[in-house]
Amino acid sequence: MIKFLGRGSAFADENNSAFFTCGNKLVLVDCPMSSFTRIKKMDLTGIETVDILITHTHADHISGIAMLIDLLFFTTKIRVTVVAPCEEVKQDMIYNLTRLDGCESGWYDITVAPDYDAPYIKAVIPTHHTEQLEGKCFGYNLDVDGTNVVYTGDTYTLDPYEPYITEGTELYVEASSVAVPVHLYIDDILPRLNELTDKNVKVYLMHLDNEKVIREKIRDTKIELAPLCAESVTPDMIYDITDELYKTTCNNTENDHTAIFGYLTALGKAIIGADRASFWKWDKRRHELWTTAATGVDRIVIPDTTGLVGKAITNKTVVVTNDPYNDPDFNSSVDKKTGYVTRSVMVLPVADVNGEFIGAFQLINKLDGKGFDIEEDSRKLSLPALICGLALESDTFLDDSHHDRLTKLKNRIGFYHDFSKKYIKYLEEGCDKPLSMFICDIDKFKLVNDTYGHNAGDQVLEHAAKLLQDSCEEGENAYRWGGEEFIILMPDTDLKQAAAKAEKLRQTIEASEFPADGIFIKKTMSFGVHEFVKGKSIEDNVSIADGRLYTAKETGRNKVVSEDVKEPS
Ligand code: GH3
Ligand code: MG
Ligand code: MG
Repeated sequence: MIKFLGRGSAFADENNSAFFTCGNKLVLVDCPMSSFTRIKKMDLTGIETVDILITHTHADHISGIAMLIDLLFFTTKIRVTVVAPCEEVKQDMIYNLTRLDGCESGWYDITVAPDYDAPYIKAVIPTHHTEQLEGKCFGYNLDVDGTNVVYTGDTYTLDPYEPYITEGTELYVEASSVAVPVHLYIDDILPRLNELTDKNVKVYLMHLDNEKVIREKIRDTKIELAPLCAESVTPDMIYDITDELYKTTCNNTENDHTAIFGYLTALGKAIIGADRASFWKWDKRRHELWTTAATGVDRIVIPDTTGLVGKAITNKTVVVTNDPYNDPDFNSSVDKKTGYVTRSVMVLPVADVNGEFIGAFQLINKLDGKGFDIEEDSRKLSLPALICGLALESDTFLDDSHHDRLTKLKNRIGFYHDFSKKYIKYLEEGCDKPLSMFICDIDKFKLVNDTYGHNAGDQVLEHAAKLLQDSCEEGENAYRWGGEEFIILMPDTDLKQAAAKAEKLRQTIEASEFPADGIFIKKTMSFGVHEFVKGKSIEDNVSIADGRLYTAKETGRNKVVSEDVKEPS
């Protein structure tokens, strides 16, 4: 795969700058001035020669070449070969380079690709860009680590590249967010690129004039932006993510923290330069760790004592492993399931404002291939990890406020929340689907407290809650309405079906043995069933069910009532 130090056009902050290695050779495709400044900071250990493949002679593609030759000659003595696509471009390069003082012709080699014996060059592809460069603008067909690569360079047509694009090809193609005659306009090429990704071609966009717009255009496609290497993260990219995060938080009407965690993990991933990032929530009640962040698989739930995340949380320390398959704490089951290869992992435990550990930030596969640095990368990740902790704390508070501690069922606040999010549509006049509920109450519950004590009473409540919860099917929800009263909401269920379900549950409860502080006792419950009336408020609907529960109590308890008592006429 080709990596990018920058993927912008001349109008963006970072000019397009691609590279790959071939044995001990570092191959650069063009070398703008911004590449030079990056390569200057790169670790070139093991690199013996540098080739610079020229696509064309526009300044934003070649302006760093003389400087790089100069630098490498004086510092590392790594020799540079400038590889022009044709004789005419070679002559133009000689003309350019020889007129610059401080870049002597003896310090580098210059050649043309067809004469150059480089195993990674399969073909030079003439293309069309600006009028002045007609006949002097090229792309390349390359072999990068055995993969067929097509690199378009600057072009206004895909046609010359088509014959080289086969199944499994990596296509690096330029894309512009506006229609200009000398570049490929994203709207024009999208249909073709989508066809290619459907045919198993990996398509990466580069030379972007406006990354944000292009990113939006390829949102639901298999097309990706050209992969940046770790050194390429710019403050601007980080501000883009924090800006989205800020706006999402300000517009968060859903009480939903998932999007916020998504942006925070994206931020951590960008700052560190990792392939994947996820945020793990520690559910202390269930002794589980779970994540929904982008990991390439569905929500993962694991026991809180396992894995590197468990280790980081238990030991309250940052955990790094750069050889996971030999680390006894690494759980490779996800890799086995998905085929993903984990090379390095870093886990940063995250605390709330009281210093209680409540989750962990996990990064996988550092893109520079060198692995995580526990000191340096923890320092870089500190801000997103801190914000994640605060967001998680607020998420946990919200979740707690919706649940009853004793029975673990949702409480009245949870009921209203669910209603406004999931069930309110059933009350709209136009909705033709039924929604039903019952409210149920333990018969003579006070007696339990009075006879066996409050602990026994609590256990009876817990057991009743469990029976109710277990009876819930997909889409249904049980709530503790207050004291020993509960509600079950049943979407797409009419009155008759709801009454049948209540009756079944009544029998289950009647047959059940309720634990009560060391002994088992029998209890019964009474039920008021109701099918929601469209157009009526939630409260008015609940009070109809409540009236029926009252009738059940009044007429002997341990029964299901699903209609109103007829007023004597
Ligand atoms: P009925 O059949 O008419 O419903 O009679 P009841 O005794 O079940 O009803 P009542 O409303 O007289 O008593 C409810 C009792 O539930 C009173 C209250 O102290 C008790 N209670 C409410 N919440 C809890 C709780 O969380 N734990 C315990 N142990 N008792 C509770
Ligand atoms: Mg009661
Ligand atoms: Mg009651």
